[in-house]
Amino acid sequence: MADVAVSLREVRAALEDLGVAPRKRWGQNFLIDRNVRDFLFRQLGVEEGDRLLEVGPGLGGLTVSLVESQAQVFAVEIDPALCAYLEEQFAGRDNFTLLQGDVLQVELPEATKVVGNLPYYITSPVIFRVLEEMSPEVMLFVVQREVAERLVAGPGGKDYGALSVMVQVFCRVELLRVLPPEVFYPRPRVESAAVRFTPSPDAPDVPPWFLRRVVAAAFQQRRKTLINSLKGSGILRLSEADLVTALRAAGIDGRRRAESFSPADFLSLAREFLRVGAAVEK
Ligand code: SAM
Repeated sequence: MADVAVSLREVRAALEDLGVAPRKRWGQNFLIDRNVRDFLFRQLGVEEGDRLLEVGPGLGGLTVSLVESQAQVFAVEIDPALCAYLEEQFAGRDNFTLLQGDVLQVELPEATKVVGNLPYYITSPVIFRVLEEMSPEVMLFVVQREVAERLVAGPGGKDYGALSVMVQVFCRVELLRVLPPEVFYPRPRVESAAVRFTPSPDAPDVPPWFLRRVVAAAFQQRRKTLINSLKGSGILRLSEADLVTALRAAGIDGRRRAESFSPADFLSLAREFLRVGAAVEK
């Protein structure tokens, strides 16, 4: 395998050779720290027989560790210049498949583990696409620290909201490590963090799109009581009597605020809404 760019000097030289500058609109902040790269690889826990999907391989800094592990590696990259570079670097490696395109559009391959230093502008859509369309054992993503804190937040705090609930309904979420701007080139303005998601083997028994709308309605007016937020959101269509019945059946006191309820509470509530025949505006 040729010399994949990992350090600051190598990344700058590779971009210069390609005649391109980092593209802001594709969230290009390349990892330039080998220790962090090795940390991410270790935390992913690659095992024999794994099929790995990397989102946004960039210049291949992390990809090289994945390919050397002998696992089957699939990587989705949108930037044609970086794709040309990756094809050259990994030429002849039959355990590496590059898919050129938008990770939100391409057909995703089946994978046991999914990893990526995510472009910040599509963090949530990537997480939900993977959770809803694939069944990986583990996902490990680098995201903005502020998003990481929302992803792991528990009920009651200011960071806890629709994103925390929707992700935690599907999986256990751990903030593994905060990453300072210096480990990327160019330096982002904010800190990042490595987050690991371990999906539970049983998918929720409520369709994710329905749960998403219920949670959005609940958090739309955070300062109101849950019942008033649900009534006032314009998202849920059901009578007041059915609303009260569903809340009671789910064991939920609608006079409290949405932020005081756990992801499991929201799942029960959504289940009861389905039972009483609630419709939601999609
Ligand atoms: N993995 C590399 C690293 O850590 O150095 C690059 C990470 S950089 C934060 C994000 C990468 O995702 C870039 O290579 C960018 O071109 C790619 N990317 C951006 N939008 C994408 C999309 N919609 N689909 C696939 N890749 C995308």
